[in-house]
Amino acid sequence: MSAVAVGGALLPVRWYVVQEGTGKSAPLTTPAKGRVYSGVARLVSSMGSGNISLVEQPIIEPSRAASNDWRRSLGEAIRDPGQLLSRLGLAAPGSRLSALDPQFPLLVPESFLKRMKPGDINDPLLRQVLPLAEEDDDVPGFTIDALDEAKFRIAPGLLHKYEGRALLVLTGACAVHCRYCFRRHYPYSQEPKRLDDWEPAFAALEQDESIHEVLLSGGDPLMLTDERLSAVVRRLESIPHLRRLRWHTRLPIVLPDRVTFEWLDLLSSTRLTPIVVVHANHPRELVADCALALRQLTQSGVMTLNQAVLLRGVNDSVETLVGLSERLIDLGIKPYYLHQLDRVAGTAHFEVPEETGLSLMAELRQRLPGYAVPQYVREVPGEAFKVPLEFVVPPSGGSVTD
Ligand code: SF4
Repeated sequence: MSAVAVGGALLPVRWYVVQEGTGKSAPLTTPAKGRVYSGVARLVSSMGSGNISLVEQPIIEPSRAASNDWRRSLGEAIRDPGQLLSRLGLAAPGSRLSALDPQFPLLVPESFLKRMKPGDINDPLLRQVLPLAEEDDDVPGFTIDALDEAKFRIAPGLLHKYEGRALLVLTGACAVHCRYCFRRHYPYSQEPKRLDDWEPAFAALEQDESIHEVLLSGGDPLMLTDERLSAVVRRLESIPHLRRLRWHTRLPIVLPDRVTFEWLDLLSSTRLTPIVVVHANHPRELVADCALALRQLTQSGVMTLNQAVLLRGVNDSVETLVGLSERLIDLGIKPYYLHQLDRVAGTAHFEVPEETGLSLMAELRQRLPGYAVPQYVREVPGEAFKVPLEFVVPPSGGSVTD
């Protein structure tokens, strides 16, 4: 059995072979060469012929022995585009890069970088974080606050968009800067910083008994320390009509060290039913230390969902979306939403036409069991829910019975 150091702890590993793009994998019981090659042969024959490209990924066995030293990992994140490209063996593309926005510079944790393919400027993970010159284009229809979120701010840091639910913007910080982010221009500096500053938001929640569920968002709520998160959770659970707490976070994907014992304990130690919504867009994000973190999360019994964004050059193919859903299900995560891109300034180069999205969804329905098909939705400001983009016509004009 091999071993790998994760955050200072030495953990056993098992080797898998993963097909690029789809995330299909075959377990290899030992890294001994004969077993590796027979595993590859089995996988290739199960996938049929064609140009199949394989990569090997160590998957760490689920273990409660993970480290909580995520702040060190965050401190070591890459912040310089030249350094990122050189680590991948790529020349700086010069004019192809955006004139860097100081409010939203490049930020990529080492763990995420390790899942990128060296030498490939079009790598789908790299594309999500590399600030390309297209970001600077002024494209009609793409605006600063495409979702009109300012309208729904009922107290500092508190958005109320949908019945029964409200969203706390706990922080503007993230461990990664996704170039397609719908909140990349959000005025985070106006939001509360210290715990006391949150009291008006907590008071607004107390006054509205129709709210049963609070979403913790940002930025990324897991950028707060476990101590601060604990204080927020304790305050929320003192509000009697609240029943559920939903965490929207990308950190388990990009900074897996952040799935700490303390956070897992916090999820299970509150009377508020926890739901965690992670954010992965491509099956190759869901390997190695990320797979370990997600297994720890799902094995702790917390309902875990995934939301993805349909992104040009990242996941706009049937194979990739099928691979993403299958990989999520293998890890015990329900594919929840596939979002049509929000039309936010600087993100137009990621947009996939809705007709293409609908064709992709039709193919996903052919290829996947119903539970593995995400809802394809668009957020429309002022609508009472995320608008489903698929319209299912009952066969032969009959009624839908189930
Ligand atoms: S993690 Fe979420 S909030 Fe943070 S940059 Fe990415 S999409 Fe935006």
